[in-house]
Amino acid sequence: SKALAGKCALVTGGSRGIGAAVVRRLADDGAAVAFTYQSSDGPAAELAASVEANGGKAFAIKADSADPTQIERAVAQAAQAFGRLDILVNNAGILSHGLVDSYPLSDFDRVLAVNVRAVFVATQAVLVHMGKGGRIITVGSVAAERAGFAGSSAYCMSKAAVAGLTRGMARDLGPRGITVNAVQPGPTETDMTNSEVVRELVRPLLAVDRLGTSDEVAGLVAYLARPEAAFVTGAALTIDGGYLA
Ligand code: NDP
Repeated sequence: SKALAGKCALVTGGSRGIGAAVVRRLADDGAAVAFTYQSSDGPAAELAASVEANGGKAFAIKADSADPTQIERAVAQAAQAFGRLDILVNNAGILSHGLVDSYPLSDFDRVLAVNVRAVFVATQAVLVHMGKGGRIITVGSVAAERAGFAGSSAYCMSKAAVAGLTRGMARDLGPRGITVNAVQPGPTETDMTNSEVVRELVRPLLAVDRLGTSDEVAGLVAYLARPEAAFVTGAALTIDGGYLA
């Protein structure tokens, strides 16, 4: 039988990129998947339909991660549909570049709200519905460990913050049999990196001669979700083509 048969998952930011690959992969592995998105109504509906066409189970919920009330509503909706939640993947994230001397405070607040506060809020809301064997997985970034280039200070802060949050929550939830981990991708081909300027900037910083794919990152997320990963907790697992090497 499939590795995640009978499991129920919620993925934030599932309409595109890494999140969409995670939705497809968890569904392929047998999980029922709810996923949130902010504004991509079309792609979200298409993803849910294509998972269902492949014999999987997925549905989309529009919820802005910057708004705690919308996150709580999305969690309640997913928990009501499934009866419980076994897996939370905190994937929604934003990147806005800017040098520290001119970076707008409104951007700083938005990055913190979506990349950090939303992880805390979603985790709190999900825990009410999660039992032993639960999985909290956050998509961090190698930016937690290495800035690499100028103009990324707020983003780096946010990804370092979720690595710390992951370690702290792993201590809180270990006694409940719930693991908490971060996956830290290096540069990955998605809309977030969809410019030649960005790709030319980062490609020489990798050990391999290409960016990663969303499916590769989704594979590591799926591993952490499986029962066999029960002894991995509080970890930040790097998948970066040697960006940190
Ligand atoms: P994309 O920009 O391709 O997709 C982002 C996804 O998150 C979309 O589904 C988007 O929804 C959703 N999203 C964004 N903001 C919100 C919000 N406020 N509320 C709800 N959903 C939201 O990003 P990636 O797939 O590249 O990134 C996914 C995660 O991976 C992020 O946390 C990112 O920081 C991290 N990461 C990415 C790397 C890369 O190189 N691409 C490297 C390392 C980490 P919608 O379609 O509605 O806008």
